[in-house]
Amino acid sequence: MIVLMCPHCGGKVERTDDRQYALKCPYCGGEVSFEAIRSNVEYNDLRDINVRMQQDDAADADKRKKLKQWMLMRNILVGVFGLINFLAWFSLGYYTRSGREPVFTMLTALLLLLMLFTSVAFPILLAATRVSYNAMNRQEDKGAKIKAFFGLLLTNVLVFVGTFLIAVIVIWALGWIG
Ligand SMILES: [Zn+2]
Repeated sequence: MIVLMCPHCGGKVERTDDRQYALKCPYCGGEVSFEAIRSNVEYNDLRDINVRMQQDDAADADKRKKLKQWMLMRNILVGVFGLINFLAWFSLGYYTRSGREPVFTMLTALLLLLMLFTSVAFPILLAATRVSYNAMNRQEDKGAKIKAFFGLLLTNVLVFVGTFLIAVIVIWALGWIG
């Protein structure tokens, strides 16, 4: 509801219906102009739009911050996964060389199990904590969690193969095989 001032008598004229664009003053019967109503409506609309944009900006900044923290977490976990993989492969090489001592059998088995566990656990953990938001077009992205999960699974496969090759090169360089 908008209260307008009658240009003829100064009386207060209430506009109760948003679709009303011509009003009659209840005090003097004069017409309160369409322009007066419209400028008031536009002002209110602009103010609403401005408030909404400010709210959107605040929400966007908040989601971007969460996304940034998530990416840091993702990078750390991919790094941890890579380290576990490398150690598992390296330990497997050492286990083969060490004449299969029980302590290396245990260590290798433990690392291989940890590798298997984290290869799925990390993507699940990261997908669950991923913000369902696309920062590029500033919109909700309902598929963000699923995309994150499969993206991370693929990353883990590459890490799995990559660390195996690195471990083979390191073991070869140490003269254990060849
Ligand atoms: Zn009036």
